[in-house]
Formats: sequence, structure tokens, C-alpha cells
Amino acid sequence: MTPLATSELSVRATVMTPLAAGGTAFHRDAILHVGPDGCIRAVVPAGVGRRAESACSPVLDLRPALIVPGFVDAHLHFPQARIIGRATGPLLSWLTESVFPEEARFRRRDYACSVAAELLTRMLAAGTTTAALYSSSSARATEVLFEALRDSGMRAVVGLTLMDRACPKELAVGVERAMRESRRLIRQFHGHDRDRLRFAVTPRFAPTSSRALLTAAGRLAADHQLLVQTHVAETKAEARLAARAHPYASSYLDIYDRAGLLGCRTVLAHAIHFSRRDYDLIAKREAAVVHCPDSNAFLGSGRMKLEPLRSREIDVGLGSDVAAGRSFSMRRAMAHAYDNALALEAPVHPEALLRMATLGGAKALGCADLTGSLEPGKDADFVVIPVSRVPLTLDDALATLVFDNDDPNVARSYVRGRRLR
Ligand SMILES: [Zn+2]
Repeated sequence: MTPLATSELSVRATVMTPLAAGGTAFHRDAILHVGPDGCIRAVVPAGVGRRAESACSPVLDLRPALIVPGFVDAHLHFPQARIIGRATGPLLSWLTESVFPEEARFRRRDYACSVAAELLTRMLAAGTTTAALYSSSSARATEVLFEALRDSGMRAVVGLTLMDRACPKELAVGVERAMRESRRLIRQFHGHDRDRLRFAVTPRFAPTSSRALLTAAGRLAADHQLLVQTHVAETKAEARLAARAHPYASSYLDIYDRAGLLGCRTVLAHAIHFSRRDYDLIAKREAAVVHCPDSNAFLGSGRMKLEPLRSREIDVGLGSDVAAGRSFSMRRAMAHAYDNALALEAPVHPEALLRMATLGGAKALGCADLTGSLEPGKDADFVVIPVSRVPLTLDDALATLVFDNDDPNVARSYVRGRRLR
């Protein structure tokens, strides 16, 4: 059992958070009150409600600092933590030359253990408190990752990466074994600590999955009401491979749809090379999309458009996509998403980026009732960002958060009111 905060906590700083009802709250000087259960009791402007302040004393005064919700990294890869920056793209050659040889090392428990420790340290330093992670195809490595997350106090969704074709022999796992190992991991970890840890059904992508594997994965997700995460339409070459591997399907998305993998608990990474019909289908199935702008740039995959998603009210989260993405920092991911939108001549406001990196990701991952914004009743998942002076306005705070990120690390990270860094 991971301990909850054992006492009440009150912290004073500048507070900025998206709100579930829409808009963004900004308090130049406020106190965030956390109850002994790790839930947020209130965010009160300093000087207002002095009775509440004194009831929760002592107040930890962190000024000048900016408190925002803990970041939600809605897409990254555990077994790629040590291969950031391998410039062997585009996607398919990067997978063959850099990713698959590294992922094969994760059959060794000691290797997986040391990378898991590094990964958690780096995510928490970057202010990520919730992560959606792909493991390797090794159940042992996935267990190691779950154990590290269990002990760290972080919130996460983790998937055993499913692959049974068109990949190195040592990474391929047959349908029966993959399902057996998935069920064991579900029994061991899914729902642990009031849903802090969850298991996600995670076919890598259509080219490395047989139809039988996808169908079994769809059944597994339905049986246990699990989140599904996968890649789709990241590059044109990959889409051609997917079509060749699944000639019965009418489109890339149709491959997943026929297998029962496209629904309201599905999180699709990249989603770049899409037609209007594809966007319509995502909206119809109420699936979510993860935007991975730095990865898309580094591998030359293309530019994802936000507008077709926003106009259809599709939930969008933000992903570092380490290791195709070159940083664990969601602050840098926001800046990359800004640049990407500018290049498409469809600018996005930093306020929308903050939402995407927090509440949007939480919604995509199905945990917005618990995390993603600093509102009473939610778990107190927040990060403290050092600033040189108190931000005067919302725009001032957004500019600092999103763009002034020479050192993107945060000073403190909390989940359920418990300090993890
Ligand atoms: Zn990825």
C-alpha cells in the first residue's frame, strides 16, 4: 500500500489551473489546501478566508513559485528511455535500427529495473505525475515497471506491448501467451491503490499485429473494460504497411474498429495522415487522440492538425513520446505543439496547451475525475515550478510555463498530496 498524505497540507504560491467547466483559473497569490485523504479541499486567494487558512496551518510558503496540476504525459515508451536522440528516422528505419535492438534488452530483469528507476526519476523531475506508458513485449519487464510505479506513488496506465509479426523474433509474442501474460498483469496490478495503476491493452500498431492478435486484444479490453492505446497513421509508409498486412480493412482505423479496439476508452497516438472520414469515425466512437509534436518533428512523420479534432470535440492529450520525442518535459511538449500549430497557420493559445498537457490528457486516459486540474474533491496531484518573480497575469504565467523552459524541471511533484520529488 502506498501511504496517503498523513496530515493536512497547505501551500502558498501562484496557482494556475484549467477548470473542468471550461476556462482557466489564475490566482497570483493563493493557498492550496489538501486534506489528510490527499484530496484538494480548496484553492483560496491568500488573505481571503483567513479562518480556513488558520485551520490548516502551518502554510508552506513557496513564493515565488507557480503551482499547476501535475502533467499528464499521455504517450511514452518505457524501454526507450535510454535511446533519446537516436537520429535513425524515419519511423520504420528508426524502429529497426534503434528501438527493436534496445527493446530486446528488456528481457533481462536487471536491465529493466535500472531503466525503470531512471525513467521515474526523469518523469517526476519533469513534473509528470500521470503517464500512459508502453512497456516492451516482455511481461517480466512490464511487471518491473508496474512494481517501480507502485512503489513511487505515481499515477500511470501501463501496457504490455503486443507484437506477433513483422518484428524481430525475440520480440514477437504469440496470441495465446500474450493474452495469458496480460491477464496475469491485470490480476496483479490493474486497479491497484484506488486505480492509481491501471493496465492498458497495447497493440504496438497494425503492421506488427496479426488480425488474430488484434481480435484477442479487443476481446480482452471488452472483458475487463480496459483502456486501449496504440499508434495510428504516424507516417504514410507505416499506413501502407498496415494496409498490406490487413487487406480486408477499408482504412487504417477500420483495422482497429473491426477488432473492437476503437471505442470510448481508446487512445490513439499521432493520428496525422487522416481523411475527414477518419476524424468522423474517431468522433463517432468517442476515442481520444494524443498529440506528440516533438516526435512527429524528429522522425519527420508529418504535422498533426488540431483543428479537425477540436471542431469534433475529440479529447486531445499531449505526449512526450520518448524516445522519438527528445524530452520528458511536457513544458517543452507544449512549446513544440505551439510551433507545430504555427507552422500549419492554425495557431493555438498556450491556455489550450496547458489544458492539453493536464486535464485533456486526464480525460483521454479516463481519469479526469481524479486528476488534471486543481479543483476541490480531486486528488492533489500538482507540481511546483520555480519562477524568478511572481507572474502578474494569466498570460504572464502561461508564457513562463510554456516557453521559458531553459531548465524545464520542476522543484516539487505531488500525487494525492504526497511529495514524490
Ligand atoms: Zn509512441
